[in-house]
Amino acid sequence: MISSAHAETPAALPNVIVILSDDVGWGDLGCYGATKTKTPNLDALAKEGLRFTDAHASAAVCTPTRYSMLTGEYSWRKTTVGLNKGVANADSPLLIPVGSTTLPSIMKKAGYRTAAIGKWHLGFGTTTPDYNKDLAPGPLEIGFDEFFGLPATNDRVPTVFVRDHCVVGLDPADPIRYTFDPKIAAADGMKKYAAGRDRIGFMSGGKAAWWKDESIADTFTHEVLGFIERNKEKPFFLYFATHDVHTPTIPNPRFVGITGLGNRADMLCELDWSVGEVMKTLERLGLSKNTLVLYSSDNGAAHTNEDSHLPNGHWRGKKSQLWEGGHRVPLIARWPGHIAPGSTSDDLVCLVDLAATAAAIVGQKLPDGAAPDSFNLLPTLLGQPEHLKRDSLVVMSGNGDLAIRQGGWKYIPDLDLVDGWQSGAKKPNQAAKPALYDLSTDKGETKNLLQEKPEIAKRMVDLLEKAQYAKSTRPLQQ
Ligand code: CA
Repeated sequence: MISSAHAETPAALPNVIVILSDDVGWGDLGCYGATKTKTPNLDALAKEGLRFTDAHASAAVCTPTRYSMLTGEYSWRKTTVGLNKGVANADSPLLIPVGSTTLPSIMKKAGYRTAAIGKWHLGFGTTTPDYNKDLAPGPLEIGFDEFFGLPATNDRVPTVFVRDHCVVGLDPADPIRYTFDPKIAAADGMKKYAAGRDRIGFMSGGKAAWWKDESIADTFTHEVLGFIERNKEKPFFLYFATHDVHTPTIPNPRFVGITGLGNRADMLCELDWSVGEVMKTLERLGLSKNTLVLYSSDNGAAHTNEDSHLPNGHWRGKKSQLWEGGHRVPLIARWPGHIAPGSTSDDLVCLVDLAATAAAIVGQKLPDGAAPDSFNLLPTLLGQPEHLKRDSLVVMSGNGDLAIRQGGWKYIPDLDLVDGWQSGAKKPNQAAKPALYDLSTDKGETKNLLQEKPEIAKRMVDLLEKAQYAKSTRPLQQ
C-alpha cells in the first residue's frame, strides 16, 4: 500500500493514467529544453510533478517497448519477430499470452476499471486476424475491460478503428481484405492506397470504416474523456496510447503551422492538446488530486534535426538505434500530495518498470515469475531515498541487437549494428566492434573507451550475459 506522509490515513486507491506517445524524442518538450516546440500542458505536468532525465524505452521501436511496458518483461526473452526484432504487422496474432500477469491485469485484480485507448500494435487473435470477424483474443483478454484504437500503426493497413473485438462501422457488404505480401496483393487487386494515402501493406474494402488521419487525435481524446467521465466514481487505469507523433504526420488543420517547424512539430501541439483535455477533465471531475498521471514515449524521434529543433536533444542517434537518442525518452509523473512538484530524478529507469510500480501502488505482491524485469519505481516517485534501485538496463534496437547501461557507462557489443534499421548487413565471420562510452562526460557517444577501460568493458559484458541467461532481473524482494 502507498506509504507517504498520509500513511496513517491511506488515501483511496489513486486512478492511474499512462499516456504513451509515439516517436516523441527526449528533446521534443519544453520541459526537456526544447525552445521551438509548444508543449505547455506537458510542461505543466513536469512543473507539478517529477521529471526523469535518464528514463528509457526498453527498445528503440514501438511493439517491443509496448510489450515490455505491459508485461514487465524484456521483449527479447521471446523468440517471436516483433518482440525480439522489428515490429508487429497488423497480421500478427496477440503477442501477450492470455492469462499472464500484466500491468492492466494487476490493476483489474485490485478492483480498477481498465481501458486501452489508442494505438495497440500488439496483435489480435491466435492466428492471422480476420478484421471482418471477432478479433479475440486481444486487449480484453490480457487485462483491459475496454479497448478502442487502431490495430497497428497509423501508417499501416487496415486503416480502421477497433472497439473491443470488432472493427467500428464496418459494412458487411464491403469486407476488409488486406495483406503485407506484394504478390498476394497484386493477384487480389489490393492497393497500398487506403484512407487517402499510401500505407504499409495492401488492402481493399472496409471503406465505410476508414479513419481520417487528421481526426484520429480528436477521436482518441473523445474516447479517453468519455472513459474518465464514466468511471469518475471508482478507481480506473487508463492506457492512452496516442498516434501522435508517428508518420504520416498529419495533424488536425487547427494545429497546422503553429510551430513553423512542420507537421511533426505541429503534431506535438496536438499531443499536448490531448494531454490538456485529460487534465482539464480530471480537474472538472475533482479527480486531479487522486490521479497519478504518467507521460512517456515508446522510442526516440525518427529525426535528429528539424530546422535546428533537436527532437532527441543532445543525445546521439534516433528511433531504432542503440545510441541514446533511440531509446532515452521523456518520462513525467504527476500525483499531487505524493510526488514533489518540480522535482527531477536522474535514476536509470525504464518503462518496463511500470508493472512492478503498479503492483506496489495497489499493494499487490507480484506472483513468482511475473514482470521479471520490472523494478518498483514507487519509492522514487515518492522521493524516498533508500530502496532497491535498478542498477543496469538492457536496451534493444529495431533489429533486435542489445546494448547495456550501468550508471553513466554504456556498452555496445557491435558498432556495425548500432544503427538499427540503418545498419548495413554484417558479413559472415566479420568480427564484432565493441564500444564503451562514458555518458557522464561524453553525451554524444563519440569516444570509445574500450581500450582505456578494459575492466569496465568486461564488467558490462558479464552484466549483459547475466541478464540474457537469467530468466529475471527483478529483485526478489519486490
Ligand atoms: Ca514508436
